[in-house]
Amino acid sequence: MSNKFVYVFGASKTEGSADMKNLLGGKGANLAEMCRLGISVPPGLTISTEACTVYTEKGAESIQKLLDAEVRQGVAFLEKEMGKKFGDAADPLLVSVRSGSRASMPGMMDTILNLGLNDEAVEGLANKSGNERFAWDSYRRFIQMYGDVVMGLKPESKEDHDPFEAIIDELKEKKGVELDTDLDVNDLKEMVAAFKGMIKSRLGREFPNDPWEQLWGSVMAVFQSWNNDRAVFYRQMNDIPGSWGTAVNVQSMVFGNLGQNSGTGVAFTRDAASGEDIFNGEFLINAQGEDVVAGIRTPQQITLEGSTRWADLAQVSELDRRTKYPSLEEIMPEIYQQLLKTETALENHYKDMQDIEFTIQEGKLWMLQTRSAKRTGAALVRTSMEMLAQGLIDEKTALLRVGADRLNELLHPVFDGQAVKKARLIAGGLPASPGAATGQVVFFADEAEAWVAKGKDVILVRQETSPEDLRGMVVAKGILTARGGMTSHAAVVARGMGKCCVSGAGSVRVDPKARTMTIEGVVYNEGDWISLDGSTGKVYEGKVPTKDAELSGDFGKLMELADRYKRLAIRANADSPEDAKVARNFGAVGIGLCRTEHMFFEGDRIKSVREMILAQDEAGRRSALAKLLPMQRGDFEGLFVEMAGLPVTIRLLDPPLHEFLPHDEANQRAMAAEMGISYDEIKHRVDDLHEANPMMGHRGCRLGISYPEITEMQSRAIIEAALNTKAKGVDVRVEIMVPLVGTVREFNAQAKVIRDTIEVVFAERGTHMNYLLGTMIETPRGALVADSIGKQAEFFSFGTNDLTQMTLGFSRDDIGKFLPDYLKDGMYEQDPFQSIDQKGVGLLVKMAVEKGRAARPGIKLGVCGEHGGDPASIDFFHRVGLDYVSCSPFRVPIARLAAAQAAIGQ
Ligand code: ADP
Ligand code: MG
Ligand code: MG
Repeated sequence: MSNKFVYVFGASKTEGSADMKNLLGGKGANLAEMCRLGISVPPGLTISTEACTVYTEKGAESIQKLLDAEVRQGVAFLEKEMGKKFGDAADPLLVSVRSGSRASMPGMMDTILNLGLNDEAVEGLANKSGNERFAWDSYRRFIQMYGDVVMGLKPESKEDHDPFEAIIDELKEKKGVELDTDLDVNDLKEMVAAFKGMIKSRLGREFPNDPWEQLWGSVMAVFQSWNNDRAVFYRQMNDIPGSWGTAVNVQSMVFGNLGQNSGTGVAFTRDAASGEDIFNGEFLINAQGEDVVAGIRTPQQITLEGSTRWADLAQVSELDRRTKYPSLEEIMPEIYQQLLKTETALENHYKDMQDIEFTIQEGKLWMLQTRSAKRTGAALVRTSMEMLAQGLIDEKTALLRVGADRLNELLHPVFDGQAVKKARLIAGGLPASPGAATGQVVFFADEAEAWVAKGKDVILVRQETSPEDLRGMVVAKGILTARGGMTSHAAVVARGMGKCCVSGAGSVRVDPKARTMTIEGVVYNEGDWISLDGSTGKVYEGKVPTKDAELSGDFGKLMELADRYKRLAIRANADSPEDAKVARNFGAVGIGLCRTEHMFFEGDRIKSVREMILAQDEAGRRSALAKLLPMQRGDFEGLFVEMAGLPVTIRLLDPPLHEFLPHDEANQRAMAAEMGISYDEIKHRVDDLHEANPMMGHRGCRLGISYPEITEMQSRAIIEAALNTKAKGVDVRVEIMVPLVGTVREFNAQAKVIRDTIEVVFAERGTHMNYLLGTMIETPRGALVADSIGKQAEFFSFGTNDLTQMTLGFSRDDIGKFLPDYLKDGMYEQDPFQSIDQKGVGLLVKMAVEKGRAARPGIKLGVCGEHGGDPASIDFFHRVGLDYVSCSPFRVPIARLAAAQAAIGQ
């Protein structure tokens, strides 16, 4: 740490620059940079983030002592630049105090304007400016901001109105006027007296008259705000370390409230919602600070085009527009031209879309801020591709600038932004699966199906979901659960389906018996309309209109560009031709995982599956399996046709058998009746199949080892489907995958059944074809002995979900109980089921990759767990040298971009 804490910026001297964000914060660094570019910026000084760190460690008194001389020097610099004296009663130098950390943190601390005013200086300002109303307006604003931000005069309860605004409202009412700007100088004097009186009576302290006391109070308040609840929470949400600290900017004031020739505004160099390359923004005449965003007065548009577009939307006639809300372009054409020049210069300089703040003081333009603009995912894509086309940035920058996860927003239907603003927010949960959904509440999966069959749109509301709810989830527009995290069943399944889901909405009390849900005392019945925003986790009452996601041409261009840079191939996890089609459209180059058991749930098949499970002996099982064979074969044929020319990896049956049986008495009785068996027998068999820990029980290849006839049937279905499809001239590329292998003997045993069956089919048909036979690597032992397995298996697909469960010893279905604490306390940095635990599980993957390649050079290596769609995990998989990742169809574009970013980053 250096012992210099204060850096000045101004026309004659500037010590900072844009690359000093860590030290000066984003705002300070960019103000300095603008000065360097010769743009007119009111001079100021920046107290570095290091001072904030000292404040946090040693307290206010120590840091003030350390800063005193430098701050005085800095203020002397401002005085020289402005030709005014800080604290001078006749012609006071006024300043603003503004916070600003490395990363922009909205709402961390409110800005203080007009600091340096007191009862004497306000008269001086009035005399000097010849504008008494302006002086008192500035003074009342200062007291209001300082009283709130530094002295801490807040509403008494959250239901209460802001106490300062309450006084203003009273005054306006008394005078019978609508706007602040309608109050005259005497009203403002009365307001000042009332503000000060309230501060005295409520806080027992006087409003400070001494400008230096005001200044130090504000600086310390900014440092203090770094650790307020809002800031801490925001940092947690965005992974910003508390050690960064905030800088403080003390800047000479320029005044937008000096009359009709003054004003203040904010602007974007491009459109933040659509990304369109069009300069746009809003301003207010005779206003200061954040009046524009505060929404007290209707702001006017900066450009004429923006103004006419706005009038169209706001249904304002052209006459009204021109007379009441003219654009800056119309009323101050010269200022407008300057602003246009400045915004272009800034965008060209930073090579990114900027968000700028400015003030006009009596016909002179001052810039007060510039930063990279926050924008929607769609706008990110469009601005990046257009800036690339415009030669502003290169290909790598264009690819790196779009956060891969932001593409989510482009892939699902979304709520109409305007409609959301009007909607009533009733609950919030985890944004488990993005998208927008509107429907009628139902509480049961079967009822969801029944309602949808009648043509209704439903939202399935559950305490939490289980695999038995799958069918209801498939038909529902969206899923809302009261419990469960981001990797809960509902969340994982919903993401796989690209279905909107909000999970873990804690305030929702589901009473399935009464068929109601209660949220903060309000009861919602079956059939009531609600809307879910899966991207924000918000739940709204009623129907909120949606609009289709738009896949613009730029999105396609970005994907093509990504494909040119990435090394990893992107496949999809898909079980049906429909999913496969979505995946292909999104650019998947194969199926990395087809879960055959998902096909078992469809239609009448579950009956034959249950018959197989309940069979007493092999003969019984074989006869049930014979019924399943044509159905599976048909499914595979559909998949092969859809994926013509691309590899399809089919996994043999994986889950424990009891997942296919009903667990409640009513359904067991229904099943007994249907199958003509006694209820007791069914109950007995279900109890028999019960396992203490099914995740590590009778599943995966263990099923095929106990019941080779299942493997036989599935192998036959796969290869017959492949031959049938091939006979139609389709290029079929089959990969058969054995799950949950821990020792090479398991693999060999299953491989023998598969190969023998396939040879029989080849002989029957008098033909043959190529196929690959490989294995999942998803048990830690499997990874440890990957060399011996690699000698036998032709490919590995890392099942990182199971590998994570077993390596960490975390049951995925139970993590809800402890993972939140774990994440809060930093035991793990991220949910290891969402983003792969690189140091632990990742090490096993890395080792198995090396062992596999050593055993079989050229072995195909991929991953098919949930992690296959997570950008940070994809980066890791790229680095360990996998050939492909496989993710849910809706994440394919995200994975394509993430794979390109991984390749560029390396
Ligand atoms: P935020 O981080 O919330 O945007 P800022 O520090 O940018 O807060 O301040 C908000 C607004 O206050 C600015 O957009 C500008 O309009 C006004 N402001 C800040 N400093 C000055 C100044 N020195 N002169 C005039 N207006 C200022
Ligand atoms: Mg603010
Ligand atoms: Mg700002």
